[in-house]
Amino acid sequence: MATSGARSNALGGLGQWWGVLAGLLLIAAWINSAAGPAVVIALSAITVAWCLFQAPVTCGAPVRGRDDGCRNNASGLLLGCHIRQHRWQKLKMLILRRQVRQFCAGLFSDGKATTLAGVGSFVSGLVALVPGVVVH
Ligand SMILES: [Zn+2]
Repeated sequence: MATSGARSNALGGLGQWWGVLAGLLLIAAWINSAAGPAVVIALSAITVAWCLFQAPVTCGAPVRGRDDGCRNNASGLLLGCHIRQHRWQKLKMLILRRQVRQFCAGLFSDGKATTLAGVGSFVSGLVALVPGVVVH
């Protein structure tokens, strides 16, 4: 994948948005029933993966003395910024049940659009898996 550097900022920026393209294709697949459930499921999986691991969001890892957490740019809802400790902190929040609520609150305050896209495409994938729901 493209590495981000000063030289390739434009391309690197575009490279981050392939998930949006997958999301648009997913919507198109839903509108065009000829696409079939397999296409919808594949596009849903791609979009969910993008939201979790690639989407441009703020890190949001808990930082001592800051209510809103780390403001660095991060890739994906599950991963933190370049500070390795923050990645572990975010994963730890998912494991410690006490902090899952905090993690989810962060998802909906920071990367609201990304979170909704992820949830939406996840649901669309589930719906496509249920036989009889997709109209042919
Ligand atoms: Zn961070």
